[in-house]
Amino acid sequence: MSVYAFVEHTIKEHPDTDVTYEAECLWCDWAATPADDSEPVDMACMQHTGRTGHAGFRRLRTSFAMVIRRK
Ligand SMILES: [Zn+2]
Repeated sequence: MSVYAFVEHTIKEHPDTDVTYEAECLWCDWAATPADDSEPVDMACMQHTGRTGHAGFRRLRTSFAMVIRRK
């Protein structure tokens, strides 16, 4: 007979870490200055589009996560 223990886990943002937002142009080597808020990155993208006509970006949101095992 086998016994399987069921352990619940949750995952959440790691405490004392920041979320980082970044963006890279898909058409040239331009990249926005990384920030801990999405708004300045989005603004920089729109300004880049205004200057160059480049309208495609790869956006990254980096965070640190932590899994917590419930007892
Ligand atoms: Zn560009």
